[in-house]
Amino acid sequence: MFLFPETYKLRDRMIEQYPHVEFVNHGTRLTPAEQATLYGEELWKRNPDLCCRLRKVDPMREVMADVDVWITGLRRSQSATRVNLRLIEWDWRYLVLKVNPLFRWERSQIWQYVKQNDVPYNELHEQGYPTVGCTHCTQPVSGCTPGDYSRAGRWSGTDKNECGLHGGAGI
Ligand code: SF4
Repeated sequence: MFLFPETYKLRDRMIEQYPHVEFVNHGTRLTPAEQATLYGEELWKRNPDLCCRLRKVDPMREVMADVDVWITGLRRSQSATRVNLRLIEWDWRYLVLKVNPLFRWERSQIWQYVKQNDVPYNELHEQGYPTVGCTHCTQPVSGCTPGDYSRAGRWSGTDKNECGLHGGAGI
């Protein structure tokens, strides 16, 4: 993936704050240069579904081969594609039990919990980014505060709004 420096900073803060949790980096082995050679420059502009599959979905599939239970931060109110989310689901793509403990939470509850419990978060949320993904495909959304949720800043100008890790495109 092509991540923001703030995202790496968040990862480092998480490692420091939760030393009892093992954090594992598992991204694609395909370097940006190799991707450009094999698929052309700026694939994310021409075929973002393929780019997401190469850089996110396929590496995730490798990780999931050794996983039995996947706990996510998905919420019903995040998007139209998530309104039917349930607490516990069977994920046929990765063949794992998927648990979504926040499925009924609203954005405001998330922030309340974060503040009350000193949970590390990506500082881009305070700079107009309601959600944060790759640098090439994430834009700030005008007027957005940390309490607002929107996917308008993801893959702007296209009808894509899911990378494919949780379904949708990029499969
Ligand atoms: S979010 Fe954009 S840059 Fe990142 S993998 Fe998907 S298409 Fe590629």
